[in-house]
Amino acid sequence: MTEHSNGGRGAIVIGGGLAGMLAVTALLGHVETVTVVERDRYPEGRAFRKGVPQARHLHVLLSGGSLAMEELLPGTVAALGEAGARGLYLSRDLLTRTPTGWQRRFDERRHRSLSVTRPVLDSVVRERALRAAAESATRVEVLEATEATGLTGDAGQVTGVRVRSRDGARGGRSERELSAGLVVDASGRGSRAPQWFAELGRSAPQEESVDAGLAYATRMYRPKDPDTAPDAGVTIPGWPECPRGAAYVPVEDGNWLAILSGVRGDHPPTDAAEFTAFSATVGDPYIHELLAQAEPQSPVHAFRDTRNRRRHFERPGALPEGLLVLGDAACTFNPIYGQGMSVAALGALAVSGTLAAGGGLRPGVTAEAQRAVARTVEPAWLTAVGADRPYASPDDATAGLGERLSSWYLDRLAARAAIDPVVGAAFRDVLSLTAPPTRLVAPQIALRTVFLPRHPALPSPPVAIEAI
Ligand SMILES: Cc1cc2nc3c(=O)[nH]c(=O)nc-3n(C[C@H](O)[C@H](O)[C@H](O)COP(=O)(O)OP(=O)(O)OC[C@H]3O[C@@H](n4cnc5c(N)ncnc54)[C@H](O)[C@@H]3O)c2cc1C
Repeated sequence: MTEHSNGGRGAIVIGGGLAGMLAVTALLGHVETVTVVERDRYPEGRAFRKGVPQARHLHVLLSGGSLAMEELLPGTVAALGEAGARGLYLSRDLLTRTPTGWQRRFDERRHRSLSVTRPVLDSVVRERALRAAAESATRVEVLEATEATGLTGDAGQVTGVRVRSRDGARGGRSERELSAGLVVDASGRGSRAPQWFAELGRSAPQEESVDAGLAYATRMYRPKDPDTAPDAGVTIPGWPECPRGAAYVPVEDGNWLAILSGVRGDHPPTDAAEFTAFSATVGDPYIHELLAQAEPQSPVHAFRDTRNRRRHFERPGALPEGLLVLGDAACTFNPIYGQGMSVAALGALAVSGTLAAGGGLRPGVTAEAQRAVARTVEPAWLTAVGADRPYASPDDATAGLGERLSSWYLDRLAARAAIDPVVGAAFRDVLSLTAPPTRLVAPQIALRTVFLPRHPALPSPPVAIEAI
């Protein structure tokens, strides 16, 4: 049985997570109805749910992402603040240990990253997206506990989604079809779009993958004495000679999330005692010392599949009419760079812009919107795979000359950025996804990067904040 015969004027969003809710926002006013198909039932309150397993881990929203979210859903940044999100200016409020020492701590206010647990972030965005929907001309319905099992249509045109209820309600577990003029796949890193393409008789999109083999372990802590808690988050990313890393960052309610990471052969443990021991083996003992002044608040949670994987739905002929792919379903990143949520927001903003510029749904608009989404993915992808290349496995896509050059240059630039406010500002603009990577090769930045000497950074975590 096929439901929702408003077909051409309705949209279906697969996945009611972050990208899904931002996709709903982008579609408001452009379609008559949006049906969100979400596998989970949303929990009471701002709690963890199974459909977003990575939500146990630290999620920092970069300023590029929060600006995009704010544009799509005005008031979201303030609402996150009210929910307890901590605003961290880079570099003032996040101390970073690099291979050459600790970065200097500048009183720079260009990039305010937001740090909050993922269940809180998702709930705030969902509440605001559904409120915006209620005030718009578009009718939005969320089908919870409903799983998308495939696409309907043919090789050239997607016409809807096959769904199955997961809790026996609404017709038991039998499948039914929902029709729509537009389907958005926002089902996250587990998206089955390639298999669904095969069922429609078309080939899967080209896929690129670069896997640093990084694994994560995360534990929540609370400082024993809040008065002596550090006044800044700390990150000690691994580097090729020392591939173990750690971060310790404040979130809401006076809690802090500690993450440990390591590439192949150096994976962090999930055992509580070993977790603490591993924290002493990263590139600097500072986080290990801070953990000794805090009480654990949770077990250790692990996450292993952290590869960068990009599906090129934007390439000519790669996408059937009527389908758009957003968020992790299109591209996942090594989470250590904190880009995925921001890229999802920038992608949704790009969809909104394409629909607004072209007068809503019309033939060819999905391909155009997908190209716009891909343009938002590109800078983050270049940064992540450039930095991960030294750890990549032989099965990965090989690095072209451009990428090899950018790895060499980025390495030099990162060392310079640790001590130089001018190069540092440009570096943070690009890492925060507010400026394109070309900012890093602007003459002033390139000259300082290539010709100024590689002085070591600071020997210990900086306390003083330097004026700029
Ligand atoms: C360990 C880790 C740490 C990370 N840290 C950061 C960070 O610091 N900063 C950052 O910006 N990003 C980070 N990320 C990336 C971030 O988690 C993702 O980019 C983000 O969640 C993408 O949102 P999404 O909506 O595309 O996918 P998700 O948030 O995964 O949501 C997918 C949704 O689709 C639903 N779904 C799935 N399949 C179906 C189906 N068949 N039918 C119906 N519903 C379905 C799921 O239940 C879920 O609600 C991290 C990722 C990992 C793994």
